[in-house]
Amino acid sequence: MNKTIIVSNRLPLQVEIDENQIKTTPSVGGLATGLKSVHREGNGVWIGWSGLVEEDIPKALAEEVQQAIKKQKCVGVKLNQKDVDRYYYGFSNRALWPLFHYFIDYTEFRKKTWKRYIEVNQKFANEVIKNADEGDEVWVHDYQLMLVPTMVKKKRPDLSIGFFLHIPFPSYEIFRTFPVRKEILEGLMGADLIGFHTYDYERHFLSSVRRILNLDVQFNEIRTSNRLIKVDSFPMGIDYTKFEAAALQHQEDSKTNKSEIQKRLDQHLSSPGTKMILSIDRMDYTKGIPNRIRAFEYFLKKYPQYQEKVRLIMLAVPSRSKVPQYQRLKKETDELVGRINGEFSTVSWTPIWYFYRSMPFDNLIDLYTSSDVALITPVRDGMNLVAKEYIATRTNEDGVLVLSEMTGASKELDEALQINPFSLEEMAKNIHSALSMKKKEQKRRMKVLRKRVARYTVEKWAEDFMNSLQHGKKQLSERINAQLIDEETLVKFKSIILDQSKTKVLFLDYDGTLVSFKNNPEDAQPDAQLLNLIKQLAAIQNTLVVVISGRDQKTLNAWLGHLPVSLVSDHGVYYKPKDGEWEMTEALKTEWMENVLPVLEKFVDRTPGSLVEVKKYSLAWHYRKVDAELAQKRLIEIKTVLNSFITNTDLTLLDGHKVIEIKSSKVSKGRASTQIQNQFNFDELFCFGDDWTDEFMFEDLPEKTHSVKVGLQKTKANYYVHSPEEVRRILKYFIS
Ligand code: UDP
Repeated sequence: MNKTIIVSNRLPLQVEIDENQIKTTPSVGGLATGLKSVHREGNGVWIGWSGLVEEDIPKALAEEVQQAIKKQKCVGVKLNQKDVDRYYYGFSNRALWPLFHYFIDYTEFRKKTWKRYIEVNQKFANEVIKNADEGDEVWVHDYQLMLVPTMVKKKRPDLSIGFFLHIPFPSYEIFRTFPVRKEILEGLMGADLIGFHTYDYERHFLSSVRRILNLDVQFNEIRTSNRLIKVDSFPMGIDYTKFEAAALQHQEDSKTNKSEIQKRLDQHLSSPGTKMILSIDRMDYTKGIPNRIRAFEYFLKKYPQYQEKVRLIMLAVPSRSKVPQYQRLKKETDELVGRINGEFSTVSWTPIWYFYRSMPFDNLIDLYTSSDVALITPVRDGMNLVAKEYIATRTNEDGVLVLSEMTGASKELDEALQINPFSLEEMAKNIHSALSMKKKEQKRRMKVLRKRVARYTVEKWAEDFMNSLQHGKKQLSERINAQLIDEETLVKFKSIILDQSKTKVLFLDYDGTLVSFKNNPEDAQPDAQLLNLIKQLAAIQNTLVVVISGRDQKTLNAWLGHLPVSLVSDHGVYYKPKDGEWEMTEALKTEWMENVLPVLEKFVDRTPGSLVEVKKYSLAWHYRKVDAELAQKRLIEIKTVLNSFITNTDLTLLDGHKVIEIKSSKVSKGRASTQIQNQFNFDELFCFGDDWTDEFMFEDLPEKTHSVKVGLQKTKANYYVHSPEEVRRILKYFIS
């Protein structure tokens, strides 16, 4: 049975070495809970860093530490202090983190940390490769490990690889500023499934893939030369039952056994009309802490009736405190809280209670259950679990969530009061609305929110992601409708080709089949090896080679005219028999071109990078060099316009590789190849092609044809291969 390998920066455990004794304690974080069934109950392995650098582990204990980790079904990736400084604190937290949260000014790109990021990613990838059995599933987590998918896939194409990004993916305009934007995206392309919290992150990512890697994106699928990569959104949830149960237990306990914090909270809440607003986050510049404090100040000024009644409880958990931006934020927060408390406090009331520390779980529950309002105002946040935790603890269905629209969670939590965290006015107004909201309305909203958070838990999230990864594996062959060519088939083909008693024809498309696509179509001329290969194929007894292409006569003549093969140009308009002269396959009219050309030229004017090619019997609009997003939009427009034009004519649109061609439907590669077959009546037919125009051949040629499609699109061909290189390998095998 296949197993799942989870890969994340940190392992779900803490390792301590105390007087030569090694102790491992499992962590209780959300991710560990979500992946419990994948990891613990299944046959899984978790690969990650233990949190101890090599320098902190006595040499004599190194092996024992690894064994202790192994007992927890984990594998420790060994990192030294420099690794952690450069890969984790350096590249991950000082380059990727700010960039992906739209803080371009904070983004520090350094070659040294980038180099170490590559090396450490390779260390993780090596552990995966070492621990994976044939066909296993691998799930890689988060921005620290964005190069792992391709590193693993290169060595182990048999593995199904999923990747989930726990932070936002920024818009293309932000991401494009990063010096190693291409390398980061290429690092991810080894994955078979890439997951994000929201559709917006997915959309931004696909836009970057299209524009930076120039890959073909259709809906939520990326097509590389030999693979399909699925991209989807999976909004991560929480361990709902844990928070709900703790809140219920808390209600029981509060009658008899109160924590110190709870006693203080109760004291404040004991006077009539008093209310509490809560905020909890890591002390991070993405969390919008200073603006929240300013908004609270503005609120107190605008609605003075709430002074001495309302208190903001702000828990800020220390985070990355060695980084200067975090130190500055801490200073700014301290000063703001100091100023406001100084300005508004009375003998019996301080407006802000500020804790700069973390709190044990039970105290978090005290805070969640005692607060009338949760005020969550990040300027950017991948998801925000605190919002969901607040909801889960509101077992009486009261309380109001005020939530920044810049959080991933806001996409799901429609019934929260959503705010723009850059607008003090809006925040103050919504704090007021939250505090004055009627119980009935609170309940109406909270009921819906609780239902959502209860349904899509962290376990469900993990299950959904894994199902999607497994499903993707099965889907590929069904989708393409053809079989990947295998060695056995090749042997069979070769014996047919070499059978001297039979007549054979090989129809070979040119671009995308014999040569790969180039940015400049003129650069795709045949190399010496290809010319030699075609020559040798044509020399096999009783075998005719026909190169059948959308290229014009002149080009085919110049490139292949000297070979002993037949040529078909312009998608079937002209035919040049081996040793013969060019002839037209059908008499065609061209009057229509006068009307269509101005339409296409208008599109060229409005679409930088596109061009019109005027052929003798067809017009082609090329968009290879057009910005990928614009091209997609224009393609829809141009097809609509042209389709209305060609209704009731004998014209047709060919949707080629980054080209739309309009031509007579009287000619096609299918018709031309059938004419050749009818003329000679070959015993055996082979046909290799890659795009839509070749599908006519696959369809029109006799059923017995051995047809091979290049690429991963749905096809009428019987077999498929991944690339022109593979086509050449097959053809070479025939003559070897
Ligand atoms: N949290 C905690 N101890 C604290 C305060 C918060 O463990 O003293 C937890 C909180 O319950 C939540 C997490 O930290 O699960 C914060 O997650 P979130 O998605 O809100 O923000 P992140 O820190 O991941 O950016």
